[in-house]
Amino acid sequence: MLLFRLIAILSVPVFLSAQLSAGSAWPNVDDTTRKSVFKFSEEYKKFISTAKTELTTVRETIALAEKKGFKKLQENSPWQPGAKYYDVNRERTISLIVVGKRKLKEGVRAIASHIDSPRLELKAQPLYKSNGFAQFQTQYHGGIKKYQWANVPLALTGRIDKTDGATVWIDVGNKPDDPIFIIPDMAPHVDRQYRNRKASEVFKGEELDPVVGSIPGKDDNIETQIMKYLESTYKITRADFISAELSLVPAMQPRDVGFDRGLIAGYGHDDRSCSYIAIRASLAVENPAFTTVSFLADNEEIGSRNNTGAASDYIRGLLGQLLYLESPDESSERHLRLVLKNVHVLSADVTSGINPIFPGVQEAQNAAKLGQGVPIKLYGKGSNPNSEFTARFRGILEKEKIPYQTHTYKVDVGGGGTLGGFLSLEGMEVLDIGVPILSMHSTYSICSKIDLWYLYKTFEAFYSDTKRLN
Ligand code: MN
Ligand code: MN
Repeated sequence: MLLFRLIAILSVPVFLSAQLSAGSAWPNVDDTTRKSVFKFSEEYKKFISTAKTELTTVRETIALAEKKGFKKLQENSPWQPGAKYYDVNRERTISLIVVGKRKLKEGVRAIASHIDSPRLELKAQPLYKSNGFAQFQTQYHGGIKKYQWANVPLALTGRIDKTDGATVWIDVGNKPDDPIFIIPDMAPHVDRQYRNRKASEVFKGEELDPVVGSIPGKDDNIETQIMKYLESTYKITRADFISAELSLVPAMQPRDVGFDRGLIAGYGHDDRSCSYIAIRASLAVENPAFTTVSFLADNEEIGSRNNTGAASDYIRGLLGQLLYLESPDESSERHLRLVLKNVHVLSADVTSGINPIFPGVQEAQNAAKLGQGVPIKLYGKGSNPNSEFTARFRGILEKEKIPYQTHTYKVDVGGGGTLGGFLSLEGMEVLDIGVPILSMHSTYSICSKIDLWYLYKTFEAFYSDTKRLN
């Protein structure tokens, strides 16, 4: 008994990891790393200032990938270790692939994240006039706190597809001299009878209609005047809005927060932070042991639906295509299942970090904190990874001295699932990680620069790791 106790005591330092975070990661970074952290953040800010929807993110990702030698995946692309490909699904989902030295059935390393963010979308017949103003009818994408979208400069971005096959691209409000669109709130002088509205109804869904014009023509009709402007500028008709995907997104550019510039405020950290870092990890990896796939999906904010969401069979189809390119004679459904079983996925998405004004909504010991390491999300209720995969992943983090923490929501209070659940249905091993942020799903959320960096280090280590995980 005594001997057993002695062994247990002696063993403690071995099992207590230096990386399981108990405080800020900042004091432990040297000057060189600190410089790299800030440089990486500048590159991230540049990316999210233009990549605000799935459409623009796919476009920016292709540009970055092609610059690094990635080629479009074809039906007969040569399969050789080190080859780099990208595959686009309907301009709204993209995967970056780097071919590994080992066979696909020996293991595939994947990172899944999403590139849509909460926003307002135009309805099919958006334009109307009210009290001297032209406005757009909208509906929202994702779970938003509606009042947060009033009094905020909004940009209009997206595509209109015409019956003759032409696509008209619209982007108004993101450049400094562009006009913006805005949803006007009531003055405190006149809103007395509205003050008893519940927080969820301070603005109702049907009230989220931005002002888009105010100078009528000779007929004193602002609606016809704005339609005339759209017809002459974009060569579109009212009916063309029916085949359009137009989003209103916050027009603000990302900015540093605090005297020390440790944080970034910006639109769409959810989930362009994890997506951008997954892209960077793919651009950085050279000759990996296992084939790497950064999978950036659409529609996560509305349940991963449609043929561009993670619930579609796109990723299964892509892996089937990769298997065919690698082993054309061994690419039956049975062979594909062997591959799927050995795909190890980091499902990467932001999570709600402890908010200094409302710390009580989280359970402090298990909730993620900004700047304190990469959160391993353990939500329970069947969404945790199998513990042996968690252990092997922890092994990678500890080998690379990457600080990590955990994230679990307060019981019966919080929640939120993401892409991982859909991928695990295909038999893949999935572990959820992410970046803790403040003001999630608002128009201007906050992340920590050191968290972006350590997630990058995590993805790099995961992709360059040579040990089998299965
Ligand atoms: Mn997300
Ligand atoms: Mn979200």
